[in-house]
Amino acid sequence: MRLTLQEQLFQHHPKALRYLRAEAWPGHIPAIVVATAGITCGNGWFSLLDQQLDYWERFIDAQASQGAAENTWPFVVSARRDNGELQLTVLIRTPDGIGVMSSLWEGMGAQVRQASRGTCECCGKSGRTLGTGKLAHVFCTVCEAHAHPNRSRIRAWVDHHFDSGNNLVMTVCGLALLFCAAYFGVVLMGLMLAGKSLAQGAAADPDQLGSTP
Ligand SMILES: [Zn+2]
Repeated sequence: MRLTLQEQLFQHHPKALRYLRAEAWPGHIPAIVVATAGITCGNGWFSLLDQQLDYWERFIDAQASQGAAENTWPFVVSARRDNGELQLTVLIRTPDGIGVMSSLWEGMGAQVRQASRGTCECCGKSGRTLGTGKLAHVFCTVCEAHAHPNRSRIRAWVDHHFDSGNNLVMTVCGLALLFCAAYFGVVLMGLMLAGKSLAQGAAADPDQLGSTP
């Protein structure tokens, strides 16, 4: 997710995201989840994430108002795309160490996953799931055209080099290709016509062939 959007989330939900800044990880985020820690999902899921984090911020406020110590508040470790869904991972310290939120989190997690399946991960408009498993993405029709996960290598190359911001290059290359095709077409036709007239000339003048020693 774009850094400016992440910064908004950090400002809106300082308690829920208190350990998510990289400099706050040591000792707070278990080593096993550090590899996936961070807000790595697409910009289009910003609003969904903002709403979900709001729930956790209010939950923590309620805990804090009852005198719960900071090290007992739940905390977010990652917001990422997993199998085409927004996966928000929230942990809480237990007497044994750090464990995943259980019963409370199940319903919330299912809600956000379901909502993300119908929301374009790039722009936030209504979208649909494309691809399966780890390759699954959620795109609207416009974003799909730019980033279809099953596009061919040629299509990917063309998209990469001739995206919407590069129309001038595409136009120039297209015109150059057309010019080359037309040029070679004319040359080829000229050669064919020349060959045909030579053959006709030779057939009409048999002496010319006979005079060859
Ligand atoms: Zn989109």
